[in-house]
Amino acid sequence: MGEQVPHCPCPECQQAPGGRTAHIHQALNQLLAGLDEKARRQTAGLLALERGRGGISQIAQITGLSRNTIQRGQLELVHPARAVGGRIRAPGGGRQPVEKKALS
Ligand SMILES: [Zn+2]
Repeated sequence: MGEQVPHCPCPECQQAPGGRTAHIHQALNQLLAGLDEKARRQTAGLLALERGRGGISQIAQITGLSRNTIQRGQLELVHPARAVGGRIRAPGGGRQPVEKKALS
């Protein structure tokens, strides 16, 4: 005994702590613990993406990462150009023409 990895609090692991899902979740948390911050949120983001609807909440519960962090990881994977430095290019880009004030 004396294992260091914390138990996953998700319902499946609570029901069957020695089950297959519990082992997978434990392995996942061990994997994430060895990654840097960026790789961790992107891996979590990918797993959440794979689960589809409700995936972010599930992965947040399993990994203990915040939903915002996982969402950010997803965005970085799906829209890498948009996530870099948080810069978002305006559609159409370029300079806005200076409008003349209408005199009346
Ligand atoms: Zn679990």
